[in-house]
Amino acid sequence: MNAPLQSAHAAVDPAKLEKLAEVAIKVGLQLRRGQDLVMTAPIAALPLVRLITGHAYMAGAGLVTTFYTDEEATLARYAHAPDESFDRASDWLYEGMAKAFANGAARLAIAGDNPMLLSDQDPQKVARANRANSKAYKPALAKISNFDINWNIVSYPNPSWARQVFPDHPEAVAVEKLANAIFAASRVDVDDPIAAWEKHNADLRRRSTWLNEERLAALHFTGPGTDLTVGLADGHEWHGGASTAKNGITCNPNIPTEEVFTTPHALRVEGHVRSTKPLSHQGTLIDDIQVRFEAGRIVEARASRGEEVLKKVLDTDDGARRLGEVALVPHSSPISASGILFYNTLFDENASCHIALGQCYSKCFLNGASLSDEQIRAQGGNSSLIHIDWMIGSGEVDIDGVRADDSRVPVMRKGEWA
Ligand code: ZN
Ligand code: ZN
Repeated sequence: MNAPLQSAHAAVDPAKLEKLAEVAIKVGLQLRRGQDLVMTAPIAALPLVRLITGHAYMAGAGLVTTFYTDEEATLARYAHAPDESFDRASDWLYEGMAKAFANGAARLAIAGDNPMLLSDQDPQKVARANRANSKAYKPALAKISNFDINWNIVSYPNPSWARQVFPDHPEAVAVEKLANAIFAASRVDVDDPIAAWEKHNADLRRRSTWLNEERLAALHFTGPGTDLTVGLADGHEWHGGASTAKNGITCNPNIPTEEVFTTPHALRVEGHVRSTKPLSHQGTLIDDIQVRFEAGRIVEARASRGEEVLKKVLDTDDGARRLGEVALVPHSSPISASGILFYNTLFDENASCHIALGQCYSKCFLNGASLSDEQIRAQGGNSSLIHIDWMIGSGEVDIDGVRADDSRVPVMRKGEWA
């Protein structure tokens, strides 16, 4: 495994990788002097981990701690672990992370695992392991989904991921192509990435400010196979680009990001919707999803591929059949224009308008930081162990905003801002 890894790393432009590391610390996290950082990464992303660690300490980080995952080791578990292993997770690690976040540490995740790693494994075992993991991670994840701390995800062109995205190319070429796509989408292929991010954040803020001023009651999506009314939560708030965590730090959690997003009302979604891009979910591709909602709940679900996995996802818990996010992305976004299917939600969700099954973000409410879980639920916020985004936008989808008095305002036409 070492030799191809070496040649693959050589295909990644070191100057742009350095800029990505700088953007992760200065834009993604806005890491503060003295702040600790907890990082997770695939072992293949070591070159980026080292650069980010350097930039973190240059920014005055107190202590940087990184946990690595390894695809071969993960597969070894599926090959050899006793059955009961799949109902377990490293609780102690997640408890430690939750403690670090409670003590003020920032969180950075490097994405880049092979999205198809577990596609040949027993789906029951995969589902059980995911469930155990979600449960153990929940207290730590709550600090992230409640936006208590500054956090960020960036990506590294892991060779195993690159081979999935560009299967017709030799590995080194695939890695170079994926690296360049990541750099472009992450806006680090320009002279001054920090300035480019300031401008991009201002553009996204303009969109979310307009939507917040409109105080819409619902969004109505129409397109091929889609006639869907997504009621918005009472007191919902639109966000996009940089936003301020409860610890007072303004950060860009997702790099890249093209979306403005808010919280739907868990009980007020009606109609049917068809996905416009395949969803890569933990090793399975779920394609051509068609679902019907009644009173916010999915009552019918089909997919041309991966239907069994979709149904398992929907049965995770009560909230898994309801929406926790609706997001608007123009069809002309750079990621959409690249035409690449990344098999990675961080990228694919930024190519298209999307909805997410499951947990909502409390920050997507006016005064979200001061609302209790009960208040959020009363205003229509959904809760679940899962949060899974899937794409419903395209150049053929129109969106109307519906006001409380039933009057309408065009929001998007043929996939573009109206
Ligand atoms: Zn989203
Ligand atoms: Zn989402």
